[in-house]
Order: sequence, then C-alpha cells, then structure tokens
Amino acid sequence: MPEEIKTEVVVLGAGPGGYTAAFRAADLGKQVTLVERYPSLGGVCLNVGCIPSKALLHVAKVIDEANAFASYGVTYSAPEIDIDAVRAGKQSVVERLTGGLAALCKQRKVQVIQGSGVFESANRVRVSGDKKETVVDFEHAVIAVGSSPSRIPGLPYDDPRLMDSTGALALEEIPDKLLVIGGGYIGLEMASVYHALGSEITVVEFMDQLLPGADADLVKPLAKRLGDRFADIWVKTKVVDIKPQKNGLKVSFEGENAPQGGKVFDRVLVAVGRRPNSNGFGADAIGLAMTDRGCVEVDAQMRTSVPNIFAIGDIVGDPMLAHKAVHEGKVAAEVICGEKHAFEPLAIPAVVFTDPEVAWAGLTEREAKSRGVKYGKGVFPWAASGRSLSLHRDEGLTKILFDEETHRVLGVGIVGPGAGDLIAE
Ligand code: NAD
Repeated sequence: MPEEIKTEVVVLGAGPGGYTAAFRAADLGKQVTLVERYPSLGGVCLNVGCIPSKALLHVAKVIDEANAFASYGVTYSAPEIDIDAVRAGKQSVVERLTGGLAALCKQRKVQVIQGSGVFESANRVRVSGDKKETVVDFEHAVIAVGSSPSRIPGLPYDDPRLMDSTGALALEEIPDKLLVIGGGYIGLEMASVYHALGSEITVVEFMDQLLPGADADLVKPLAKRLGDRFADIWVKTKVVDIKPQKNGLKVSFEGENAPQGGKVFDRVLVAVGRRPNSNGFGADAIGLAMTDRGCVEVDAQMRTSVPNIFAIGDIVGDPMLAHKAVHEGKVAAEVICGEKHAFEPLAIPAVVFTDPEVAWAGLTEREAKSRGVKYGKGVFPWAASGRSLSLHRDEGLTKILFDEETHRVLGVGIVGPGAGDLIAE
C-alpha cells in the first residue's frame, strides 16, 4: 500500500527553480513537499550542469593564465594533470552544494520525497521511488521538471565515446582528439575545459557563427581566440553519420569546410540544445495546455491552464537558464501564497563562461533588427582600457544599446575577461 500524505504545496523537481519555489513557499508559511526523482537534490544545474562545469572552467582558466603569463616574462613548466584528482575536486564542490540543500530543506521543514512524481488528478500526485510509493494530495503544485540534452537522431548513443554534457562532465578520460557538435554555451564551455586539459578540439556548428543567438561583434573576439587554439572550427556544417570503430568514432560531415571522407575522433560531445522534459509527469491526466515544442503554457504569474498548478524553469521554455528559473520559482510561490507578483523581466542576463567571456542583458542587436526596434549604440573597445591591457588582453568590447529619443538603456553586451562579472552592473 502506498503511503498517503497531504500537503499544501507540492513541487515536482528539485533544481534551482524547484528548490527556490519550495523554500519561498515554506518561508511564507506553507507546508511544502518537494519531489525529486534522483537521490541528490539540485537538479541538472548543481549535479551535472552549471556548477561542475564552472568548477572545471576554473581549472582551465588557471592553466591558461599560467601559460599566458609568459608574455610577462614569467614561465612555468607544463602542468601535470591528475585527472582523478581533478574529477574529485569538481565532485567535492557538487556534493557540498547538494548536501547544503538537504540541510536547508530540513531547516525549513520541507519534506523531501525521492521518486518520480506523476499527476493522477489536479489535486493528487503519485510518487514512485526506489523503495516505496507515496500518494500526495495537494492544494497547489509547482511543476519544475526541467529539460534534457537534445539528440541528433541515428547516432550510436550506446557507445560511451559519444557523450552528452553529463558524460563530458564525468571526465572519464582526456581524449587526444575531441569533436564537439554544437557551438553553443555547452559546446564552447566544455571545449575550453578539454582544450586546457590537453585535448585537440574540433567544433562543428550548424549555423553561420558560434553562439548563433549572440551578436556577431561580441562573438568575433571569442571566435578568433578559439580559432587560434582549436584544431578546427567549422560553421555551416553538420554531422551526418558516426560509425564506431576500434580506433575511434568515424564522423562524416556535410558543409562548406568539413573534410570529405570524414575524420576519426577519440570522443564526440553532442551539445545541440536542450528539450523540455514534457513526458512522464502526467500532463495528459490533468489536461495541461502545452506548446508545440512540448513546453507547459503559463501566464505571467507562472500559472498553467489548470488554475491551482504552476510551472517554472526549463519546462516553460527559453531561455533555459538557472537564474531565470530561480526568479520564476519565487514568483510562483508568492502568487500561491496570495501575493500580487508576476514574472516581468526587462533584461535576463546571459553569460557564456568561455575565455573571453561573453555576456549580454536586455535587447541584442540581432533581436532589435528582427523586431524592427530603432536604437542607438555606444561602443567602448577594451584596447583603450588600462585594466584590460594590464592583463595583456585587448580584444574586449562593451556596447550599450539605447533609445535615441529617451536615452533609456535597452540592452548591454560585453565580451572580454570578466564580462560575466561586469554584466551585473
Ligand atoms: P545552445 O542552444 O546554446 O547551442 C546549441 C548549438 O548547436 C547551437 O549553436 C545550434 O545552432 C547548434 N546545432 C544544433 N543542431 C546542430 C547540428 N545538428 N549540428 C551542428 N550544430 C547544431 O545549447 P547547448 O549549448 O546545448 O546548451 C543548452 C542550454 O543550456 C542552453 O539553452 C543554455 O541556456 C544552457 N546553458 C547555459 C550555460 C550558461 O549560462 N553559461 C552554460 C551551459 C548551458
């Protein structure tokens, strides 16, 4: 017999959106139950996403800076990399944070249930865990079930040398030759990590530039620096086939610059975007309205088509960013608790943690042009910044887009070392 419990608010998914919603609702006096399918809290971001990747990017940054220090007349010998210790260092960061979350749940008396939650009705969810089943009757629910890596159909996914972001972060080995499919956030961040650890990197990107969502002038300095370091970057190129061989994965391409006859790589990372986890939580059983892309439809208060059920984070669509999910989680919890709040962001910052970092907030020129928004632009090249030159770096740039009549700032874009810190200002 399943255990039966009653709660005021149930939250499905303990990623940054879910745990924020749970904590906020608990702080506002609600009795909260948090359901998570994995034993460790924190979702993709803490376990197999933002946090482990940032830990590894720190390793990459220190290695790269030590190398670059030669321009100041200080040289180190080549680093000795103990891959097991690097992996353990990354994992200790993850465990500290996920363990901290468990403690925060206890402090707030948020009940955590391990298992997959599936709606049976608009007031009941069934949670199937490793050891037991629980039926949770609730007044309000928050769906925060996240997203998963997209796949290119027809590739040999059972070969462990073909990795997604989770596999790449597991850092099983440092391949001699790594192919990264997709020149977006994940592709370029992980390519930077593996490059610093010693891999020869090739990137293929389907569109006509790396980071296709970002403005071309911000991407150019990054593309140049990566172009000097990586073996190849092929834009307007796609992978059509991968054949596992004894000596590696034989990859065939279609595109302007890619080699005819294909090329063999030791490992391949597929980082071609993420898709919402639309299946498996019982959307049909409660008649939830979904978009064509499989996202849950919500209004500005994060309310779904079922009035007592809310949804937040990657499952409601782009941008699939943890800090967006966190804010939406707060909004949903506050609305559930009767506060007048809505998700009305003017500018959601985005940061790509490559070197140089690329960051933007608000309107981009790409969006302004596609929406026909008129704007003025102020640009400051970091070749004139003493702070940047002192790092022996001159490729950065800051630009501000503004309304020419009112001088109101519409958007900001930055590329350069530390752009991700500067964008907050
Ligand atoms: P992305 O959308 O950033 O990049 C995917 C890239 O793959 C795009 O450039 C796309 O044009 C390309 N692509 C698609 N199909 C292809 C194909 N068949 N062949 C070659 N290229 C192809 O997605 P991602 O890098 O997978 O990251 C997923 C999500 O995770 C992002 O939406 C991002 O919001 C989030 N993320 C954020 C950060 C950060 O905030 N620093 C870091 C990592 C991931």
